Amino acid sequence: MRVSSVSAKLSAFRPNALRTLSPFVSSPLCSRMSHGLSSRDPSDYTRFIQPRSAARQPSAIRALLPLMSLPGMISLGGGNPNAEMFPFKELTFTLKEDVGGGQVNVPAAQLEKALQYSPTNGIPEFVSWLKSLQSSVHAPPYETYDVCVGNGSQDVLTKTFEMLLGEGDHLLIEAPAYVGSLAFLKPLGCKFVELPVDAAGLNPDALEQTLRDWPDPATRPKVLYTVPVGGNPTGTSTSADRKRRIYEIASKYDILILEDDPYYYLQFSSSRAPTYFHLDKDQRVLRFDSLSKIFSAGMRIGWVTGPAPLVSRIALHAQTTLLHPSGVSQMLAFALLDKWGKDGFLEHTKRVAGFYETKRDAFLKAADKRLKGVAEWVVPDAGMFVWLKLLGISDSSDLIRNKARDKKVLLVPGFEFFPNPRKTPYVRASFSTASEADMDEALKRLAELVTEARGG
Ligand code: PMP
Repeated sequence: MRVSSVSAKLSAFRPNALRTLSPFVSSPLCSRMSHGLSSRDPSDYTRFIQPRSAARQPSAIRALLPLMSLPGMISLGGGNPNAEMFPFKELTFTLKEDVGGGQVNVPAAQLEKALQYSPTNGIPEFVSWLKSLQSSVHAPPYETYDVCVGNGSQDVLTKTFEMLLGEGDHLLIEAPAYVGSLAFLKPLGCKFVELPVDAAGLNPDALEQTLRDWPDPATRPKVLYTVPVGGNPTGTSTSADRKRRIYEIASKYDILILEDDPYYYLQFSSSRAPTYFHLDKDQRVLRFDSLSKIFSAGMRIGWVTGPAPLVSRIALHAQTTLLHPSGVSQMLAFALLDKWGKDGFLEHTKRVAGFYETKRDAFLKAADKRLKGVAEWVVPDAGMFVWLKLLGISDSSDLIRNKARDKKVLLVPGFEFFPNPRKTPYVRASFSTASEADMDEALKRLAELVTEARGG
């Protein structure tokens, strides 16, 4: 079996480098953080919330929105433009033949709604479709969860980070991790407590040991950020057993789990581990989904699902930044989802997963041919990435950033994905868009580069 250990270490966790407490952590609310959830009010998440987020008040103007449509209400209050002056009448789009072809129409009344200012957490019929999808796909153990649509999952994810993490706070994070999250988290000034991942995903033993050995309960991390399926960059997924253990550990140490899962529908096997959201008996999971990989990345549609008090706080942030996600994108997505229904949507996601599985197989064929003795990798079970360990190379950064680009191969050097800086032999390759012939040529060039770098 082609296995490389994804060689992240706990090394960067240095208890003696613990920060002094933030004002929030030292607050009385927070002193309860070290206890489990048994005695707390399940709707009270104040011990997790950063002061800046706690200070957010609802926008006075946004609060008028639901009142405007009350029967008999004469609105002189809102700042809605008059839709009579919008030039668009109807929206009709044409589907590709391989998804059945034909046209989908967004009727004038719906389009008018989509073109107007709309609720911050999403257009109601779209939100309700998503909620019903979440129920049937994940069967969470509680019903009062909420959904907030964002401008891609990146939008709601970064708002969540901002809500939960401040300067000096410790974050439990996989190493390697999604570079787009790191780019947001680093300037926040939080400290990364790295957890190793391997072919079966995040290692629960390391999580348990880290929390058990933490020297001071008052500074113990409160948040775990994980990409549990088709990890970006590792391509590996956390197994069902591990997820169950990780959830139990999170429960024991009162940790919120941020389940960033944009590759959920890009799983190649039909047997799927339960999501953390499915396991969430004590309401400590915020789950992030995305339409980017299955409908379109440019639509910028993602959503967060989880306990209503947390989701509404994310929406409060969006009130002051986005106002709301694009109505036109939401209506475009909703029109198709409504036409297809849940089964049609799930059928589509199977087609997408099958496509990426074929791409992965083409990549592995080229890798087997070109990278023997040059690299090792774990076969990805979802997503669009392969995490290659270059053999005989201790630091891939110059090779990949400079020499490979000169040779016209684009890859991402592994150091970019580590929360704490280090040299690494790893490199991330994507099998998403290149043709079979281009994958073969690219890996041939990579093999030549590695051989040259090793001195012949
Ligand atoms: N999380 C992960 C792990 C990702 O790989 C990506 C996209 N590259 C995102 C979040 C952001 O996705 P979206 O397009 O929904 O913002």
